[in-house]
Amino acid sequence: MRSIDDFSRPLEYLTPLGEQVGEIIREWVEKEVIPYRRDFDEDYLEHRLILPPFRKLLGEYGIQRILFPEDLGGWGLGHSDYLSVAAFRMFEEIARADSGMAVAFGVVFWPLVLICCEPHVNRRLCEEFAPMFTGTREPVFSCMAMTEPQGGSDIENVEILKGSTIRTTAVQDGDEWVINGHKLWPTNTGGVADLMAVVCTTDPGSRDVNDIAIIFVPCHLPGVTQSSAYEKAGMAADKNGDIWFENVRVPLWYRACGPGDDARFYGEVVSLGNMGSIAFMTGVMLNVYEKVREFTSRNTYRGLPLKENDAVAGVLADFAATIEALRILGYQCARMCDRHDLYGPRWSPEVMAKARAHRYFAADRTLEAMGRVMNLMESFGADREWDVEKHWRDVKMVQLWLGGKQLSQMEVARWFYECETL
Ligand SMILES: Cc1cc2nc3c(=O)[nH]c(=O)nc-3n(C[C@H](O)[C@H](O)[C@H](O)COP(=O)(O)OP(=O)(O)OC[C@H]3O[C@@H](n4cnc5c(N)ncnc54)[C@H](O)[C@@H]3O)c2cc1C
Repeated sequence: MRSIDDFSRPLEYLTPLGEQVGEIIREWVEKEVIPYRRDFDEDYLEHRLILPPFRKLLGEYGIQRILFPEDLGGWGLGHSDYLSVAAFRMFEEIARADSGMAVAFGVVFWPLVLICCEPHVNRRLCEEFAPMFTGTREPVFSCMAMTEPQGGSDIENVEILKGSTIRTTAVQDGDEWVINGHKLWPTNTGGVADLMAVVCTTDPGSRDVNDIAIIFVPCHLPGVTQSSAYEKAGMAADKNGDIWFENVRVPLWYRACGPGDDARFYGEVVSLGNMGSIAFMTGVMLNVYEKVREFTSRNTYRGLPLKENDAVAGVLADFAATIEALRILGYQCARMCDRHDLYGPRWSPEVMAKARAHRYFAADRTLEAMGRVMNLMESFGADREWDVEKHWRDVKMVQLWLGGKQLSQMEVARWFYECETL
């Protein structure tokens, strides 16, 4: 019988490690996530159901340590030029069960890229934070704190705004940074964050990119406050909330890459965030394929399975074709993020714009395709029993972050058409 494994993947550049971890994750989602996911929405505050599977995957299997160098107890994936391809496989497998969980999982690694990956490994910070992730069987959550109350997109729009709208400040006092500010929405907040990378300015209003500072902040420090988790349309496994920083002190060397380089490598946070977002969508669509296949095989029209009806088969074909196309697009985006020698660095405006193009195109196609499947399933599309409505609510959110569609369009137009004022 055909299955999700019959959809195409670029076999020539899959990695043994990524595939092996992918198989482990497949087994984990079948046993630990899929049987419970329908109750995740009601668990958005407590994470009583959501935390145990994370404990197993991140802590007990030790996947939270993969980016750190091997001599620090990690798996050394930060040094691999297959990082994004391996990540794509993992994210997709998790998103097939629950895309909120895939987001929370991905963000554990997102800020760590800034210190664990070539060519900007920050050995001192790796040594500082590796024990936090490798020395425990409990899950450890990181977060990337960018968005602020006055707007998130502006802060990511480094190329044009150059950090001039960031209001979270880092002021040098002797050999420490003193951080003050307010962030909204970061994944893995709402009380769960253990370590944050905080996008700050060292000179409010400045358009000098040297003043953009990405600073690591352990969340137990005095002056760090997290709100409880927001109640969202879905993605309950991803807790989002407010964070306040009130005279939070960290050593100067907690800055990720340094003046100029923090702004430069912030670009890779954007590229990788967009790449991962595509995997969240294809993972969702693979599970919806399984569901709609079951639905149209089991339900009948004039005595025949629904899938044998011409009109239904057309919708099913379009859905499969969308998965085929988006999966290839997503893997290519991941490959582009990995192979700096072929495509240029993943923090370049070119790769950022292309990754944004891939993500927003994929989001538009996914949402159209999901809408058609909901129509096809009629009332059962909205029935929690089938899980399709959960995926539909969850996947809409993938379109909203990282500046949403509009900022993506601006950046894509700016790069491809050399617009000067956008
Ligand atoms: C589930 C979820 C997870 C998230 N995770 C994180 C996270 O891990 N870290 C984090 O920091 N934030 C996170 N966010 C926040 C998210 O990234 C921001 O909401 C997003 O970037 C948009 O910022 P905003 O909501 O402040 O909207 P604004 O920036 O105020 O934008 C409002 C509208 O203006 C448009 N716009 C903005 N700039 C331009 C422009 N130059 N040209 C044209 N239109 C423009 C936007 O597209 C949008 O439609 C998350 C959000 C969600 C829903």
